[in-house]
Amino acid sequence: MSKVVFENLTKVYSNGFKAVHGINLEIEDGEFLVVIGPSGCAKSTTLRMLAGLESITGGSISIGGKVVNGLPPKDRGIAMVFQNYALYPHMSVRENLGFGLKLAKVSKADIEKQVNEAAELLELTPLLDRLPRQLSGGQAQRVAVGRAIVKRPQVFLFDEPLSNLDAKLRASMRVRISDLHKTLKKTNRSATSVYVTHDQTEAMTMGDRICVMKDGHIMQVDTPANLYKYP
Ligand code: ADP
Ligand code: ADP
Repeated sequence: MSKVVFENLTKVYSNGFKAVHGINLEIEDGEFLVVIGPSGCAKSTTLRMLAGLESITGGSISIGGKVVNGLPPKDRGIAMVFQNYALYPHMSVRENLGFGLKLAKVSKADIEKQVNEAAELLELTPLLDRLPRQLSGGQAQRVAVGRAIVKRPQVFLFDEPLSNLDAKLRASMRVRISDLHKTLKKTNRSATSVYVTHDQTEAMTMGDRICVMKDGHIMQVDTPANLYKYP
């Protein structure tokens, strides 16, 4: 149960600028939703409100049937993957993967189990003892995704995670993230994902549905096949 619902969600910044204009959206349990639109259309503001990193001005957000307005990020059952991988430079891959669980006081045995499982899923097992500076860009991004997976969140949030990678790596990471989503679903793990990008290829190849935003409004929400049916 990790459906995400926005009701009349609104954001007015403190300078008076209205960035999000009362949007309504239902993201189904297990769905991979891509949010696309030009720079400045409020993709990131919307994602940050869902994450609890930005206050909401009006309306509501619920996750798994529970209204999360005002809840801090750690109490929302979410995990976020950023474009700058935000890995801790002095910690090994293993420690980076397990750090969030350690903070949450998860037992050593469970941390090891969950870290090993995430490493397996992302083919990071041979890299567990490396430091971030000993990783390629693609490997570092896989660790960033792994850090989200070990938390076993209800909802994954992706903020342009591939925009720092070269074209070839982007292509392989698209497939990897899509496959991972399918694997998590098959094993009955919650996998509802909201993926923000300005890249049409990512939207078309990864999204179960695509939400098109413009100037703080939702213009369309539909499957890639329906959205791109007409030239
Ligand atoms: P607060 O957290 O106090 O509400 P804001 O996050 O609204 O502060 O930002 C403070 C100020 O920074 C705003 O009034 C705005 O002028 C400016 N600002 C920050 N980021 C942007 C941005 N991306 N576009 C325009 N103005 C911005
Ligand atoms: P996107 O992620 O689609 O590029 P953003 O959510 O970053 O768009 O920004 C949406 C709009 O809100 C933009 O016009 C931006 O300048 C404005 N904005 C973002 N942050 C602030 C802020 N702190 N204060 C005022 N305006 C902001």
